[in-house]
Amino acid sequence: MSNEASSTPTMETLIALCKRRGFVFPSSDVYGGYQGFFDFGPLGVELKNNIKNAWWKDFVHRRDDIVGLDSSIIMHPKIWVASGHVGGFSDPMVDCRETKLRYRADQLFIQAYTFTSEETENQSHYVTVVESEDNAAALAARAKKIAKLLSKKTEAKFSVGETEAEIIEFTEADHAQQTSAWGPDAEAPETLTEPRDFNLMFETKVGPLADSSATAYLRPETAQGIFANYKNVVDTGRIKVPFGIAQVGKAFRNEITPRNFLFRSREFEQMEIEYFIQPDADWQSLHREWIDKCIDWLVSIGLPREGIGEDVHPAHKLSHYSKGTTDLTFDFPHGVQELWGIACRGNFDLSQHQEHSGKSMEYFDEQQKQKYIPHVIEPSLGVDRTFLAVLAAAYTEDEIPNDKGQPEKRSLMKFHPRIAPYKVAVFPLVKNKPELVEHARTFYERLQNRWNCFWDVSGAIGRRYRRQDEIGTPYGVTVDFDTIEKGAGVTIRDRDTTEQIRLSEDEAIAWLSEKIDG
Ligand code: ATP
Repeated sequence: MSNEASSTPTMETLIALCKRRGFVFPSSDVYGGYQGFFDFGPLGVELKNNIKNAWWKDFVHRRDDIVGLDSSIIMHPKIWVASGHVGGFSDPMVDCRETKLRYRADQLFIQAYTFTSEETENQSHYVTVVESEDNAAALAARAKKIAKLLSKKTEAKFSVGETEAEIIEFTEADHAQQTSAWGPDAEAPETLTEPRDFNLMFETKVGPLADSSATAYLRPETAQGIFANYKNVVDTGRIKVPFGIAQVGKAFRNEITPRNFLFRSREFEQMEIEYFIQPDADWQSLHREWIDKCIDWLVSIGLPREGIGEDVHPAHKLSHYSKGTTDLTFDFPHGVQELWGIACRGNFDLSQHQEHSGKSMEYFDEQQKQKYIPHVIEPSLGVDRTFLAVLAAAYTEDEIPNDKGQPEKRSLMKFHPRIAPYKVAVFPLVKNKPELVEHARTFYERLQNRWNCFWDVSGAIGRRYRRQDEIGTPYGVTVDFDTIEKGAGVTIRDRDTTEQIRLSEDEAIAWLSEKIDG
């Protein structure tokens, strides 16, 4: 039995584990990496495919009302004009003249906080802090710089979130004079430019001409490929409103500050559905149904229910066409952040494409005997953010008895069997008895027909179990002397409890099948 000790990994722990075990590598690692891009190693590609397949199975194969699509990454540039991405898909950014670094203005507030101190008889003082996603270090660094510059010595403690940082007070006049627009990594003040809009789409050229008519974009979302094909799919005649089109694929955004590992990268994958509904449908109830389905799905792949939250966008923050958006958040190692956006987008996108293309996007509803442009509910989930959430949720440290019965620390990945990279590992107990090894190998090949399995003959059995625990293989099957001498079947060890059961080989396959696919 295991004794769970701790389960909350830091991002650094996950990044190190991912590299060490072959889940995720920095892209172009041999050249020192490339910010905002990642490569998925032998285990990572399995985990990622399993996440995508589970999603596809549940939202496409297991439903009569949703069909799939795989549209191209580069589409006619007019699509991005119609969707509003050419005109408006931008973040406000500021540049630092000194360091040449670029920041997202909305993630980098330079704010003045007033507070009073006893020493100066409750007179107001100002403290300038940088609020950014990792602001504890920025706070401390900035405080020191301000202190150096102003040589005012009253120190105070200032807490932001759970982190306490050292901050030095100074006066309002000093504040105004010295600290506005100071780049967080700069040595001197006054280094930041005014915020400017920065379009997040990657541009490329299509065809041999390099003039502006050849400009195209890498898609920043998969959704527009769905809208652009909505008519084609409807015309194939299989489906009737309400229905959905689902797509999994790459998306690219030239994020100003990619950070937090896989959470915000420049190349990522999305799993998106456009669910088309009648204009007068009860969209609030349908929206709620989608939110609940999405939460259930996250739980079904192993995320803890208590880590999932709902962030309802307030009315004043909604785009003019949006009726309501709720983000499902997850408690990531760097904080509670958006994982899955579930938006009611009205008929904005189809109407825009109708207007810009001149082609009708109307749907003839045979039951209602009327034409309309359907409205849409859009659940949009990032594969990479799901991958990160799954890693964080699976990471566990506990203690189990070693071969001598003494407690030993281990770290394991408690992946749900559905998405674990390897489902079963097979171990012949010893490697120098050919009959036993051969028997185990034959059983392994039977399992391999169904699942991705791991074959390991080397080292003490305890060590072999431990290696699989660390990469999250849920079941270990051992072929021992009783298997071949007495026909006593095989043992199956459970990764999480370390408990073992003995079953005949056929029973073992049925048992595993129930656990993994059931
Ligand atoms: P954010 O506010 O975090 O930039 P967003 O609201 O722009 O995200 P959407 O446009 O709604 O994100 O994209 C849908 C989903 O795609 C997000 O919920 C997220 O899971 C994923 N996603 C978006 N941008 C990125 C990115 N840069 N890296 C990884 N995943 C992303």
